[in-house]
Amino acid sequence: MCADKNHEKPNLLKSILGNKCARCRRGSIYKTKNPYHPLKECMEMPEKCPVCGQQIEVEIGFYYGTGYVSYALSVALCVASFIAWWVFFGFSLYDNRIYYWLIANAILLLGMQPLLMRWARTIWMAFFVYYDKDWPDTAEQRRQSNISIEPNI
Ligand SMILES: [Zn+2]
Repeated sequence: MCADKNHEKPNLLKSILGNKCARCRRGSIYKTKNPYHPLKECMEMPEKCPVCGQQIEVEIGFYYGTGYVSYALSVALCVASFIAWWVFFGFSLYDNRIYYWLIANAILLLGMQPLLMRWARTIWMAFFVYYDKDWPDTAEQRRQSNISIEPNI
């Protein structure tokens, strides 16, 4: 194990749950730490990662695809709450328990929306941006090697 904590690779799941940059897994990709306060600014992102300088909006419209991730997260949450309700309260055809679950589930989904939207973007970024502890040095090396192989005209 490395003595210097900065050289350890941060855990992927932890960095996603903490909304960290996919490149360095250390810098926050949101301007505010608390997704609920101020609620209006919960989705505001800095232009670049404060730790490694990775562009947060990789290209224009990069985060349009997060709808798919957000949908999957919402369905997973619904399934989890359905199972939890089934275990703790049960379902029956002879009473209104399923309606109570529907109401409780709607409240849960609405309440968790800021968190789900943030995680959807963080997961989406992790799909396309890979961990690189030496970033931006490797990007600079790659850029220089690309320049050197270009023919001189
Ligand atoms: Zn970063």
